[in-house]
Amino acid sequence: MLPFQVLTETLSAMNIIPRCQLIGTGTAGLCFVIALVNKVKQAQGPDKIKYQTLLDTLIAIEGNRQSGGVLDSYQINANTDADEIVSCLLDETPFSDLRDHYLQQPEVHQPLIPLPKVGKLMLQPIANIITSLLGDNLLLNTKVTRVEISKNECKSFGSNNQLLARSQKMVLCCGGREDLLKELLPWRQKTVLTGPLLQMKNARSLPYQQGSILIIGSSHSSFSVAWRFLNDPALSSYAKGRDIIMLQRNPLVKLRCTPAFAHQNQMPFDAIDDVCPVNGLVYRNAGLRKDAKALYLEIKKGTENRVRLEPMASLSNAEHLLDDAALIVQCTGFRANLPEISLNGITQKVRRRSSVGELSDIKTGKEIPNLFGFGLGIQIIPEGDYRGEKSFTGSSDGVLPYPNAVAPVIIDQLIQD
Ligand SMILES: Cc1cc2nc3c(=O)[nH]c(=O)nc-3n(C[C@H](O)[C@H](O)[C@H](O)COP(=O)(O)OP(=O)(O)OC[C@H]3O[C@@H](n4cnc5c(N)ncnc54)[C@H](O)[C@@H]3O)c2cc1C
Repeated sequence: MLPFQVLTETLSAMNIIPRCQLIGTGTAGLCFVIALVNKVKQAQGPDKIKYQTLLDTLIAIEGNRQSGGVLDSYQINANTDADEIVSCLLDETPFSDLRDHYLQQPEVHQPLIPLPKVGKLMLQPIANIITSLLGDNLLLNTKVTRVEISKNECKSFGSNNQLLARSQKMVLCCGGREDLLKELLPWRQKTVLTGPLLQMKNARSLPYQQGSILIIGSSHSSFSVAWRFLNDPALSSYAKGRDIIMLQRNPLVKLRCTPAFAHQNQMPFDAIDDVCPVNGLVYRNAGLRKDAKALYLEIKKGTENRVRLEPMASLSNAEHLLDDAALIVQCTGFRANLPEISLNGITQKVRRRSSVGELSDIKTGKEIPNLFGFGLGIQIIPEGDYRGEKSFTGSSDGVLPYPNAVAPVIIDQLIQD
């Protein structure tokens, strides 16, 4: 029997139900544990004991053989700076040496650093520290397929319907998934989704016939995909001589920048609604950053003419472009990759947009008691300083500082009775 099973069965036999289980230990799940360590460090009095107990009894289940998730598998540069990446790692925690070591590396202070490098220098070492911190309480290589919630208990089940763990509360950090749009079904043989495209190490699996590269959407991911075709030797020879067309549903492309930069580059914005009151940036949370931003500006100025932005009202108007394309890349966002969830025996269709991380049922609109979630595909608009510009209606999955802002809010709810 695995140490994890011994632990959960012993607790069950003693009728002790741990406070919380965390499902998924990608970036968001790791940020959750880091935020909990920070809470233990910063709190005083009875709250400190509550946070410490939460950390000591936290059960984590991860589908992969190791923690860390997908972020460092994207073959693009990080859109976050070194200070954003380390912002959650406080002094006198198990992570402070790693943070200091990271900040000593000259390459992390370059304007651009590849995500696989961030993974090697930061995400993987964080995952290692957390793996030893959680010890037997972390079960790797085990996918939760189903979650049952009742008034006082959350249960997770594995692939053979075996009970994995019981807890009073549960946090889902299962990342995102992309589903092929049904409008693209006729072209599915030549369609690739954002994630696989950004993870690809070479172009061998791409369709080799003549034709354009058609990118559906004009999000950060869409520009990242175009950037790879233009700049990454692994894909640029595939793109050579092909038109790269980006279908743009929203006519306004937003850039994260200062008001002066926006004026200088004739990027329209509303001085009240689109400027973050905390740091004064235009589209702090909704705008393109780094490579994606630079690429958009080059396209706008006409200095990069290999990519063409085409307005698109609906995909049904774009049939000729879909037919002509050698390759279609669907970049239309991620949905939460949640296991099946039932509340008191009734299957829940989970509504994901929330302000403090609680999940609710779409049909009834009611919160599912004791069930929380955040990370890629779960659309949380964080409270407080990280709220960004007033017009922001985005989600919590864009950058690392998001989970860092959301996790502490969720943790505070977990220690409530
Ligand atoms: C194209 C792109 C570029 C990005 N670039 C940046 C960037 O430069 N900087 C930045 O800060 N952020 C960036 N982000 C955001 C970043 O991806 C997210 O912050 C983060 O990777 C999402 O982490 P996650 O934990 O939600 O998901 P994931 O990293 O996918 O982790 C989910 C984890 O849950 C596990 N899991 C899933 N289902 C189950 C289950 N049923 N049972 C058990 N385990 C399960 C998985 O195995 C995985 O380990 C980018 C996002 C995208 C899409």
